[in-house]
Amino acid sequence: MSIRVPRPVVGRIVRAVVAPILSPRVPVPAQRRLLDLAGRTVPAPPGVRRTTATLGGVPTARFVAPGAAGPHVVLFLHGGGYVTGSPGSHGALAGHLSRAAGAPVHLLHYRRAPEHPYPAAIDDALAAYRALRAAGHPAQRIAVVGDSAGGGLALALLLRLRAAGEELPASVGLVSPWLDLDLTAPAVAANARRDAMLDPRWLAGSARAYRADAPADTPELIPLRADLAGLPPLHVIAGAHEVLVGDADALVDRARAAGVPVTYRRAPRMWHDYPIFAGLLAEADAAVAELGAALRRDCAARRPRVAVVGAGFGGIGMGIALRGAGHRDAADLTILDRADGVGGVWRDNTYPGAACDVPSHLYSFSFAPGHEWSRRFAPQPDILRYLRRVSTEGGLDGHLRLGTEVTEARYDAGTAAWQLSTADGDVLEADVLVSACGQLSRPAVPALPGLDRFAGPVFHSARWDHDVDLTGKRVAVIGTGASAVQFVPAIADRVGAVTVFQRSAAYLIPKPDRRYRAWHHALFRRVPAWRNAARVGWAAFFEVGALGLTTVQTAAAPFRYAFEALLRRQVPDAALREKLRPDYPIGCKRLLISSEYLRALARPDVDVVTDPIAEVTANGVRTQDGVEHPADVIIFGTGFATNDFLAPMKVFGPDGKELSERWRDGARAYLGITVPEFPNLFLLYGPNTNVGSGSVVHMLESQIHYVLQAVHRLSTGTRSLTVRPEAASAFDSEMQRRLSGSVWTGCTSWYRTASGRIVNNWPGLMREYRKRTSRFEPGDYLEER
Ligand code: NAP
Repeated sequence: MSIRVPRPVVGRIVRAVVAPILSPRVPVPAQRRLLDLAGRTVPAPPGVRRTTATLGGVPTARFVAPGAAGPHVVLFLHGGGYVTGSPGSHGALAGHLSRAAGAPVHLLHYRRAPEHPYPAAIDDALAAYRALRAAGHPAQRIAVVGDSAGGGLALALLLRLRAAGEELPASVGLVSPWLDLDLTAPAVAANARRDAMLDPRWLAGSARAYRADAPADTPELIPLRADLAGLPPLHVIAGAHEVLVGDADALVDRARAAGVPVTYRRAPRMWHDYPIFAGLLAEADAAVAELGAALRRDCAARRPRVAVVGAGFGGIGMGIALRGAGHRDAADLTILDRADGVGGVWRDNTYPGAACDVPSHLYSFSFAPGHEWSRRFAPQPDILRYLRRVSTEGGLDGHLRLGTEVTEARYDAGTAAWQLSTADGDVLEADVLVSACGQLSRPAVPALPGLDRFAGPVFHSARWDHDVDLTGKRVAVIGTGASAVQFVPAIADRVGAVTVFQRSAAYLIPKPDRRYRAWHHALFRRVPAWRNAARVGWAAFFEVGALGLTTVQTAAAPFRYAFEALLRRQVPDAALREKLRPDYPIGCKRLLISSEYLRALARPDVDVVTDPIAEVTANGVRTQDGVEHPADVIIFGTGFATNDFLAPMKVFGPDGKELSERWRDGARAYLGITVPEFPNLFLLYGPNTNVGSGSVVHMLESQIHYVLQAVHRLSTGTRSLTVRPEAASAFDSEMQRRLSGSVWTGCTSWYRTASGRIVNNWPGLMREYRKRTSRFEPGDYLEER
């Protein structure tokens, strides 16, 4: 029969026996021997078998409680300030952990300081983890646990694995983790007397021994400052009275903000590493039991099969994030695209002059920043190259099913799975469907009377026909949006004449473009902070623009002045200037960025026609005033079918209802991502997530991060997630209320449906969206377990 000793008594024993050992005055060899002895006095659970072995050349002790057969395993990195601790001091805890987790526990006897300072311990932990993998343990069946310094080691191991692109363990337990070697948290001083176990002076000495000659800013020595996004579930335990509780608090806050699933047991009145007294202390038993159950749950998780439709920025970003979360088998992740290559709109839009009108340091993934952009506003081939490279380097090649159009998706409530039908007759099953179809992928060509009579070539800017030689030709351009303002100046020199049919004038501002030279690249490479500053600076610039479109419309005034100045500078003819001056508020349609377009329109061989088009004839375009404008080629720059989102793919929910039916009055989705009655369906760049000023890639990353959390939930016992109708409708009402005060109500645009509802745009700043999507709130969802 086991005996439990009341907390105050154990606390006093710890103060009297253990704390004096962990003193700078006791030589390290004596500390090690005494802690071994102390550890052996803590009762292990009955029947635990202990064997010794090596893992990756590192000695380990393997503890297996009766019946703890796995199939998962625990790699345990013991504490002891990197200088002490061993299978002796931590053996009892390993035994209790084995029983609680139902798995063998490998207690690693890694090299310790001062004989073996940083990075020896991390090298050993990595070698052991890899050896477990090599021995056939899949990462999703491995848990890593560390207490105290072992907690810091566990976190550093995760960062190293992530940096190496290796699969992370399924679950991580951190008991009183020591994450800040500099001991800067206020709790260190505040709890110095209350903590029964630890003396901060001893910690400081241990930190010196472990760090040795390594620079203070070595990332693995300050894992608390690392980007924590994409880490597996963390289960953190700390005592409220311990000197390191500030480390645990900070970690929990940062991890949650980064979207990492976290549980936190912050035990009142407990001291540092109290779970080490499991078997003696009821509070420790409870903490270890809870930790073991969490590890067991995470390692038993099933990995939902995810199908992503679309291989543009959204699909690629989602795929890479899912791979980082362990979806590495082809069956776990499939990315389908009807095109025969990745890149989405950046693959489709090859028109002359195609380029991004957001600077590429912002219009790129934050996790793949090192691309050598040829210009500040990268041209389309450069962006396509980037996407291809990122996709391949992110390991997506084996997950892509290109040239495969998904025509229909049906949710089967019985199996809680989506059945996807493809145009070539295949059927594919997935537990989660992510649509990454974008908002601007289906070209819109107006049904102009007589179009089929036209004798010459006709094409849309997003399907540019490069076989048509425009040299010397009379070209009719219909449309004056973001695409036309790029290709009109790019073809003007080559063609014989251009007639631009303008239904609405556009506001433009000059493009502060520049070529990046070798020294720019060297600077961005060597000083990543400079590159980051460019990203942050541009984001701030666009956020001010977004304010001007939504709540503080006076913020848009400088753009209006810039337009007037550009117009006066580039268009000497007053009558033409008049034609080119919009009659709606600035920003209502997308503000365009070009230093070339207005100048091109002022050319003698370029004509701007504002009379509405009546029909297309065999030889040109006739306007309603009866004038026929001769043309050899017609190019549509008429934009895209933007309001239908997933169309033409048909999506059916469990009751057979089609998504487009639900969206008859305009598309809407909770956070732009989830739709009531459509379980396990997630939209990227969905309704109300386009930014009038900003980077869609930034918005996509917010969505990807959110979806990743949902997918994680679906891997831990939840069969389906369906957004609650009340959450979705409250969000939608909020969107429409806020949008009704935006500048976008002042004209027609691709942001609005025929009835005037704004279905594409987000009414706030990118940072608000990031914040609201940073945490997946299960309470917003109906959960089927
Ligand atoms: P758009 O902005 O929707 O412009 C379409 C143009 O065609 C408008 O001028 C529109 O006139 C005109 N139009 C449409 N139907 C017409 C008809 N029946 N008769 C006459 N004119 C007609 O399309 P877009 O230029 O392809 O740009 C779409 C979006 O793609 C942009 O807003 C932007 O988000 C994105 N884009 C981005 C870049 C980039 O640099 N990143 C480049 C290109 C496109 P009204 O204004 O009167 O409707």
